[in-house]
Amino acid sequence: MNFNELTGKVVTPSDKAYAVLRLEYNLAINKFPLAIVYCYNSVDVSNAIKWCKKNDVKIRIRAGGHNYEGYSTGTDVLVIDTTYMNKIYIDTKSNVVKIQAGARLGDIYSKLAEHGYAFNGGTCPSVGISGLVLGGGIGLSCRNFGLVTDDLLEIQVINQKGNIITANTHTNSQLFWACRGAGGGNFGVVTSYTFKLHKVKEVTLIQLRWNASSREKFFYLWQNWLKTLDRRISCFAGFGKKDIYMNGFFYGTKFEAETILKDFLLLPGLSKNSLIKYVPFIEAVQAVGSIYGPPNRFKSTGRFVYKDLSRKNIKKIIQYVDLSPGKDNCYIRLYSLGGAISQVPSNYSAYYYRNAKYIIGILSEWEKMTMKDYTRIGFQRSLNMLNL
Ligand SMILES: Cc1cc2nc3c(=O)[nH]c(=O)nc-3n(C[C@H](O)[C@H](O)[C@H](O)COP(=O)(O)OP(=O)(O)OC[C@H]3O[C@@H](n4cnc5c(N)ncnc54)[C@H](O)[C@@H]3O)c2cc1C
Repeated sequence: MNFNELTGKVVTPSDKAYAVLRLEYNLAINKFPLAIVYCYNSVDVSNAIKWCKKNDVKIRIRAGGHNYEGYSTGTDVLVIDTTYMNKIYIDTKSNVVKIQAGARLGDIYSKLAEHGYAFNGGTCPSVGISGLVLGGGIGLSCRNFGLVTDDLLEIQVINQKGNIITANTHTNSQLFWACRGAGGGNFGVVTSYTFKLHKVKEVTLIQLRWNASSREKFFYLWQNWLKTLDRRISCFAGFGKKDIYMNGFFYGTKFEAETILKDFLLLPGLSKNSLIKYVPFIEAVQAVGSIYGPPNRFKSTGRFVYKDLSRKNIKKIIQYVDLSPGKDNCYIRLYSLGGAISQVPSNYSAYYYRNAKYIIGILSEWEKMTMKDYTRIGFQRSLNMLNL
């Protein structure tokens, strides 16, 4: 196969760095693409699409590589990787930002904070903007501002013919509708996203921890609490065998947050390390982002929850966690929804779950990577090997 017709930086199995660059964030994904093409611009993307058509090769599109099931790679495919299309252009007059498809959340948050803006994004700094926004996107501001995709004003996409097209509510509006929540990898390669921005200085950061003794009470309280919850608060919570956590942002004062959380603060086993603190927005983002460790192997799935779970079902879920093998590597995750997300009509975009109350996720990790392993597969080092 002639890779010379591809433009950008092409990595094939004969390159040393291939062994690492073929990997996804979830190290349990073990796929072998024919090649990975690192695109620098839209022309490289367009050439890659045309090349795949000509050579009858399947395409996978990769931004941050965080898809749980590895949908951004495959065996015998061409991976179109947008890592180096990562520029962020802020227009402070119109309060909008244009973000190229390969940008990661951590960089977006930092860059916008320099200009006094929040970003309505997710929690893990290495997640790519593309997968996040194309799937809807939730985070610790979503009950206040809506889904990440609800802030989207326009996208630029390379279609199956290799042509650049713009989509917004006036032009190619059906494509724009579909790209807001139907999931990535379906309707062309998006090269940039334009979002409206929110000026935010401070938020109340919530980081609460308990020992495992209150898991049942916590879960029961969680589902009742959400029913009438102030939309200014969004929380991601969960538990394993040993403990319970809750991370959240509240767009209001510490005092108000403590009042809203009073029943949680009374649960037995609250850790002394818990905090509720009014801080600059970027500090809150970084505090939550720092919880994520290096990549490892995991299986994660979830469901949107519409109905209350009975006490019996809650007990069963806790039992599943306790019966899992390993010391503490199976977790239940709870992601608050509702608020601004449910105030948008359900036909507004392809995102289907506007009326869900929260997401319940289950995550299992195994074979934790040691620091030595991590260094061995260090992504940054491999990118350096390419001299990009
Ligand atoms: C540790 C971790 C934390 C997470 N935290 C959150 C969170 O807080 N909130 C949340 O909502 N989600 C979260 N997620 C889920 C995450 O948003 C999705 O997995 C998302 O799809 C990842 O996007 P990516 O660009 O990093 O992944 P990729 O694997 O690169 O892409 C994901 C999908 O989008 C497609 N795609 C990628 N780039 C493009 C493009 N340019 N054009 C068209 N399609 C494209 C891919 O083909 C694939 O199907 C988290 C995931 C992980 C692993």
